[in-house]
Amino acid sequence: MKIGDISIDGVSDGSLKARPKHMFNKSELEWEQHSQFLDEKGRLTMDMGGFLVRSGDRLALVDTGIGPHADPARTGMFMQSLAALGAAPGEVTDVVLTHLHFDHVGWVSDGEQRLFPNATYRCHEADWEFFMGADPYDDGPAVAWLGGRRVSELLPPVEDRLEVWDGDGTILPGLDVRSAPGHTPGSSVIVISSGSERAMLLGDVVHCPAELLSDDWEALADFDRELARRSRVALARELEGTDIPVAAAHFPGLQFGRLLAGESQRQWVFG
Ligand SMILES: [Zn+2]
Repeated sequence: MKIGDISIDGVSDGSLKARPKHMFNKSELEWEQHSQFLDEKGRLTMDMGGFLVRSGDRLALVDTGIGPHADPARTGMFMQSLAALGAAPGEVTDVVLTHLHFDHVGWVSDGEQRLFPNATYRCHEADWEFFMGADPYDDGPAVAWLGGRRVSELLPPVEDRLEVWDGDGTILPGLDVRSAPGHTPGSSVIVISSGSERAMLLGDVVHCPAELLSDDWEALADFDRELARRSRVALARELEGTDIPVAAAHFPGLQFGRLLAGESQRQWVFG
């Protein structure tokens, strides 16, 4: 994806399959109208990934996948995907984290060393407090996916290279953050712009494009479901009919798509 002078490439850590009824407030019957997002067994294909953004002399990663331990048969290929794009870990200048859930911080460190040794690590201050504060978020169910570690054990090695943001604004040339809370307290959308062109990386404000089609979706993994719903609805209303390409860390193949305005409900097209 090219946005003016900026390039954006998906960096896949692999993909997992999920039963949609385990993720959203929708019945199997309701999912029948969204079959374009399901495989032949009715499952969602969920990439675990991030995006490499080349802007001027900056080489920024937006999210870092689920890490090397989750499911060796299906995930753990983030560094190979990065190498295939011609980027070495030491060349990454910035690691921008849309939020600090385990499946986005998997490759920030090995628990002792930063895995992008020269990068500045960036996230929303509210998420740092939520995951690392005095009473850290209990991520017990995720520990197995992270090879026996908690998020709060993966993040300390990056703390002396951390820069937090606490609202909306520009953090790098052509790269702005915008708060979209609910999935986590500091959950953010990344807006990439060059000249008159724009694209957006949605983090986990949306896990599947179907969530943008109508206003009644809830994702069961959202920390505050009503707040997350309001963030998502505002985003959908802004995006519909604009032709702005958007992608998110769990979209299949990390593909971009566009949200079309519709009479009764919006429509999604990949590409
Ligand atoms: Zn996620």
